[in-house]
Amino acid sequence: MKIYNFSAGPACLPGPVLNAASLASKQYKGTGMSLMEMSHRSKPVVELFEETSSLIKELLAIPKNYCVLWLQGGASTQFSMVPFNLLPDNGSADYIETGSWSTKAISECKKIGKVNVIASSKNGFFNFIPKNPRPNKESNYLHITSNNTIYGTQYKVYPEIRNYGASLIADMSSDILSKPIDISQFGLIYAGAQKNMGPAGVTLVIIREDLVGKGYRDIPTMMDYETHVKKESMFNTPPVFSVFVVNQMLKWIQDLGGLDSMAIINERKASKLYQEIDNNPLFISPVAFEDRSLMNVPFIFKDKMMNDNDFLRFCDKRGLKTLKGHRSIGGFRASIYNAMPEEGVDALIEAMKEYK
Ligand code: PMP
Repeated sequence: MKIYNFSAGPACLPGPVLNAASLASKQYKGTGMSLMEMSHRSKPVVELFEETSSLIKELLAIPKNYCVLWLQGGASTQFSMVPFNLLPDNGSADYIETGSWSTKAISECKKIGKVNVIASSKNGFFNFIPKNPRPNKESNYLHITSNNTIYGTQYKVYPEIRNYGASLIADMSSDILSKPIDISQFGLIYAGAQKNMGPAGVTLVIIREDLVGKGYRDIPTMMDYETHVKKESMFNTPPVFSVFVVNQMLKWIQDLGGLDSMAIINERKASKLYQEIDNNPLFISPVAFEDRSLMNVPFIFKDKMMNDNDFLRFCDKRGLKTLKGHRSIGGFRASIYNAMPEEGVDALIEAMKEYK
């Protein structure tokens, strides 16, 4: 039976990527060594990093005045690195609160400096994206979470703050590489790889050059973007194997036709799933229509007396795995990132119809 893994992250990876990872784990590029055994100073690994950075620059059309970093510590470390590096003692940072991850980013920033939460969807149980936020003119940056993994909301239009002189910063952990974006809108983007881009263990940071080395405070060396920019992500031992899997994932996306094609596929997958949720009398989507995520699709039983576990077992028997909603909202959540094949979404829709 074909298994489809709807996990929110770490999430499914394409077969060719897993095959390449399997081969590289035994023997890398004719060296007779596993990639896991190889020094990050060795030529093949340095070339791997160079190639992976070039690939992502090409796929995302990253302008020349941006640096690409491959870091560790997950997106959660970025919650602190961003204010450590970009928030001066006498400055302030605007945040939009759209779910648990942005709440965590806010609480880390509060430990470092002044935070203004300029908009929040907390009162709506995070089921929408606040519209027309009013950033403070004097703030250094505005932080958003572009896709809310738990609640299934996603920005369709990013706040425009360039005329304020502040930088837009986005946690794109759960929708990076799902569609083309205009990088020049952002001062900094970060994303853990383990949803749309590869396995856990590596975090992508894209940072505009003028934001590197601000030197606002004396911070630990490892927390300083400048450290990693100067050493091209090789200041310390980087997560080589995770970067290799990202490299393969980038090539897989490129072979599909790049991010324009990826966006078309992702829109098609999500729209057929939402159509089923809207048409099937058993289910409803808890998310505001215009803010529905193309990546994480939560849905619940219309009738609260229905048994979630029974539907989960029904799906499980059909090879449809990890559909349980996040513990904070219950119900179901289908994460349909880049690597989820359309057949997986079709199989879920079929199961929903049959269950009805
Ligand atoms: N931000 C978002 C939007 C996430 O979905 C997650 C992880 N699920 C995180 C941050 C935290 O990422 P990490 O576990 O890599 O620290």
